Amino acid sequence: MARTPFVAGNWKMNHTRALARAWCATFRELYAAHPWPAEVEVGVAPPFTTLEALHDALGKLPVLLGAQNAHHEPKGAFTGEIAPDMLVEAGCAFVILGHSERRHLFGEPDERIARKVAAVRRAGMTPVLCVGETEPERDEGRMQAVVESQLRKGLEHFRPATGDQLVLAYEPVWAIGTGRTATPEQAQDAQRFLRDALAGLCGAPVAHGVRILYGGSVTPANAATLIAQPDVDGFLVGGASLDAGGFHKLVLAAAG
Ligand code: PEP
Repeated sequence: MARTPFVAGNWKMNHTRALARAWCATFRELYAAHPWPAEVEVGVAPPFTTLEALHDALGKLPVLLGAQNAHHEPKGAFTGEIAPDMLVEAGCAFVILGHSERRHLFGEPDERIARKVAAVRRAGMTPVLCVGETEPERDEGRMQAVVESQLRKGLEHFRPATGDQLVLAYEPVWAIGTGRTATPEQAQDAQRFLRDALAGLCGAPVAHGVRILYGGSVTPANAATLIAQPDVDGFLVGGASLDAGGFHKLVLAAAG
């Protein structure tokens, strides 16, 4: 059975509530004029303080709300953190975990990411587990070793039993925010490898059902050739998701 494409925007630390409402008003008009097919899932992960405003502004638009991080404990003395159930309360359906900015700028180790993946799943949301190699790691021929290790360690505390319990995102660090998109062949090569590695961990039927997104300088112009690859099941989009018009074009391109 074909996998449902998923296109998720990661707004990072961008867009106030007012900008989110304006984004949503434009996106709603574009959707009314050119809706994407029901078989495509679309999501947006704004900053925490914008979640509620975006949730209200989205209304009945078929757009899932997501968060960019979560803590693995349900509550307690963890200043500055946010619990999975709080995100559920805000309307979140998915949480981006292990993003390269969390790993490299904030020093998040695989062990902590694995706890978050399990906690997000326990709360009933979909973890979007990000993996990806740096440029030196790729140049040294270590792409496979790096992403396999991030995948295996990231699933240390949770193994999906069905394909809809997890989304993976292959995001080569050298392609994030740089304008240097991976070629369709590079994306396919890494994502095929990840699916095989996942099959080794969870079995082939589960691996076949898990969506693997590509992330790294995706634009409306390069989305169609990337999504044409058999193991590219959608996108995690940073910069190009901030503009409602560009993101809408990208979603339509991903829908084919
Ligand atoms: C990201 O941050 O997940 C990302 C892919 O960013 P960009 O699309 O800007 O490269």
